[in-house]
Amino acid sequence: MKVEPMDEIIFADYLAETRKALKNQVLQHALADLQNRFGRGTALAYQNLPEGPDLRLKAHEIRMEAIGNLDVLLATLAGNVRKNGGQVFFAEDAAAAVDYCLGVAARHNARLAVKGKSMISEEIGLNRALANAGIEAVETDLGEYIVQLAGEGPSHIIAPAIHKNRDDIGRLFADRLKIPYTNDPPSLTRAARKSLREKFLTADIGFSGCNLACAETGHITTVSNEGNIRMAITMPRVHVAIMGMERVAARLQDHDMLLRLLCLAAAAQNMSTYVSYIGGPRWKQQVDGPQEFHLVILDNGRSRILADEQFREMLYCIRCAACLNVCPVYGKIGGHSYGHPYSGPMGAVIMPLLAGINAGRDLCQGETLCGACRDACPVNIDLPRMLLALRAKLADGDDRWNVVRADRGEKAAFHLWSWIIRNRRVYEFFLRLASWGQRFFPHHNGMIRRLPPPINGWTRHRDIHPPAAQSFMQRWKKGL
Ligand code: SF4
Repeated sequence: MKVEPMDEIIFADYLAETRKALKNQVLQHALADLQNRFGRGTALAYQNLPEGPDLRLKAHEIRMEAIGNLDVLLATLAGNVRKNGGQVFFAEDAAAAVDYCLGVAARHNARLAVKGKSMISEEIGLNRALANAGIEAVETDLGEYIVQLAGEGPSHIIAPAIHKNRDDIGRLFADRLKIPYTNDPPSLTRAARKSLREKFLTADIGFSGCNLACAETGHITTVSNEGNIRMAITMPRVHVAIMGMERVAARLQDHDMLLRLLCLAAAAQNMSTYVSYIGGPRWKQQVDGPQEFHLVILDNGRSRILADEQFREMLYCIRCAACLNVCPVYGKIGGHSYGHPYSGPMGAVIMPLLAGINAGRDLCQGETLCGACRDACPVNIDLPRMLLALRAKLADGDDRWNVVRADRGEKAAFHLWSWIIRNRRVYEFFLRLASWGQRFFPHHNGMIRRLPPPINGWTRHRDIHPPAAQSFMQRWKKGL
């Protein structure tokens, strides 16, 4: 099975997509509503934690310790899953993970697969691979189901169809499910439920992601608010769970603390409605559950991140989406602009690291560095620091990450600027020159409307203050 290189799959034209998003009024309303509800709710929820908001700092330490001992923890996890009767496969890359999943499906003559919402399956392109192998893969999370019917990808980790309103969904269901048009949410949900129930009852295999895993007990955990994941993983004969290798906690008490924070950060809930701890296939005396349980532990570039102290912190991420819910950039451009599967400030760091820093340069350069993501993160990840580190690599190049310097002209311009501001006479001459030269540019209300190329980007969407007729130092000397 050939899997396309990640950069070909995920990096759409960022600028073109953002322009489209800014003009999309449905999306703009939906994003504002999402950030109002979840962004504020999460900040309040941290304040109301019985242990206080500093629990985030404790969680940071727990993640740091786990990522520092990842090799030992993964070996312990795999050993305990096997003891529980499950099978474990370590996949070096997306192609290996997909091959393994297809192999399991082929051994069971699977023709229909049901899936719980899983960003990692988006990362490896599982749906496309299953379709190529003649296996129908049906998303069972309502939001994922909607975007799958629309032939789109998710635009948010926990709210994949946030870019659609109920009129869009009504039209989509009328077209694809052949029901009379309605924009009534309960009626639409009932239609999806009816269609999905048939799939649950007849599916040969179930795929899921993994929100967290625990090395000590050898179980994985999935959370949902619809109950669809536990249907997708207990009704078919076979369950294949795919997890990023970083998602493991050492001890059950660490796992449970992270689980609480995950639910708070994702949706300001004390606990998601459905939480499943899955330790393997069903036992002999059990009537429910799959006969086979497989855990695919995916590397796909994570070892490289682990090896770099500057970026190792990114592996602490538990994919809760809290940083998306407060990010001023995500709040305007939505998830599709970033390309799939990870978006927001978290995606702006992880995707360039997984798929190529040069290929993903727009993502890390598009963020504002305001720091709201760090404050919202349940494990206190310093995303702005890593965004800056990525930009430094683009400015200077880096052989270890195969980064070629993004823009030699920009580097030269900043060198020149650095030299100018370190030489007072030159700087003052420059200010006089700028003050004299600005009169040749178009003005409006005392502001410069347009600068000439190559610096016209500054004034494409905003005006700029002209340099003052006299510098501060000149006025200081005159005692003004
Ligand atoms: S970086 Fe933090 S806030 Fe963002 S998804 Fe990861 S854990 Fe959540």
